[in-house]
Amino acid sequence: MTEDDSQTFDSTVYYDEDADSEVIVGKTVAVLGYGSQGHAHAQNLADSGVDVVVGLREDSSSWDAAEGDGLRVATPAEAAAEADVVSVLVPDTVQPDVYENAIEPNLEAGDTLQFAHGFNIHYNQIQPPEDVDVTMVAPKSPGHLVRRNYENDEGTPGLLAVYQDATGDAHEEGLAYAAAIGCTRAGVVETSFREETETDLFGEQAVLCGGVTSLVKQGYETLVDAGYSPEMAYFECLNELKLIVDLMYEDGLGGMWDSVSDTAEYGGLTQGDVVVDEHARENMEEVLEKVQNGQFAREWIAENQAGRPSYTQLRHAEKNHEIEAVGEELRGLFAWQDEEEEEESAEVKA
Ligand code: NAD
Ligand code: MG
Repeated sequence: MTEDDSQTFDSTVYYDEDADSEVIVGKTVAVLGYGSQGHAHAQNLADSGVDVVVGLREDSSSWDAAEGDGLRVATPAEAAAEADVVSVLVPDTVQPDVYENAIEPNLEAGDTLQFAHGFNIHYNQIQPPEDVDVTMVAPKSPGHLVRRNYENDEGTPGLLAVYQDATGDAHEEGLAYAAAIGCTRAGVVETSFREETETDLFGEQAVLCGGVTSLVKQGYETLVDAGYSPEMAYFECLNELKLIVDLMYEDGLGGMWDSVSDTAEYGGLTQGDVVVDEHARENMEEVLEKVQNGQFAREWIAENQAGRPSYTQLRHAEKNHEIEAVGEELRGLFAWQDEEEEEESAEVKA
């Protein structure tokens, strides 16, 4: 059974009591990749009593790290061969290659292909045989928090989707996987590969990574072009963004509006839509359409196949924007912040 594309607006949320982690405890899970997500899934699964084998290239620098964490390590092909569940946690751009060379030849009927992002399945870069389950458990946090929360008996919210249910048990097993990495402690939202992939791409392009950086650069340039100092423009258009985002993250838009001055609230409420106006909305719809009709995916796949010429150029231009030089200097003034961050990342590693 392949997912249908009907959209649900009231998502189902699963918790510990909805999941039976025993379903996965008797199984062998191959975790391919030991990066952000891989190291967290592998260790959490193992601590939950699952038999884990990490799949890494023989020259991988993570080999020692994974063994040092008490995990069994093998090549991706060996790991896939012995596993009931293959968790594909190598970068999205290398997944099709790893699938073709290491996973596909080693898949058996009834095995599960497990992902943390839907891109390659949704855009048909990986086309699994019909006799395997295809699931997604995607924590909504970077891996180090997935690991830290698990160790602190807390959970990390996540997403669950079933693309293909060959065995009839795909959903139950996906939930068990989510439980074993700690996600059902916090809540697991049911979605589809299509919905996860398209909303993820749209969000990062229109709002999070693309939209915000454009807003920051345009704001900065507007002030500097009008004769204000680059330092002031940096503070007002980039540095203070963190403050605002932290407030929205903690208490929503309302929490942010409550915390800023009445002047900021009135000005923001009247001028926000003047800047990000209906035209911006139409542009967003265009961006969404390119995600939905596969145009963006085709472009990005071709870009990778060509050796990333435009990507390299765009990256270079972004690095050389004036705001980066100003920022580097000004961030030096926040030395106390670096110390705090160092303490925090030391905690993460400990
Ligand atoms: P990552 O870049 O942090 O780690 C990738 C790992 O794969 C590294 O250990 C690397 O050494 C290994 N690797 C690279 N090429 C390989 C190859 N050819 N063969 C074997 N191993 C190889 O990746 P990540 O951010 O953990 O992403 C993994 C998956 O999780 C992706 O599908 C991503 O979309 C998804 N995801 C990531 C996050 C996140 O916060 N990072 C959150 C949710 C979902
Ligand atoms: Mg199965």
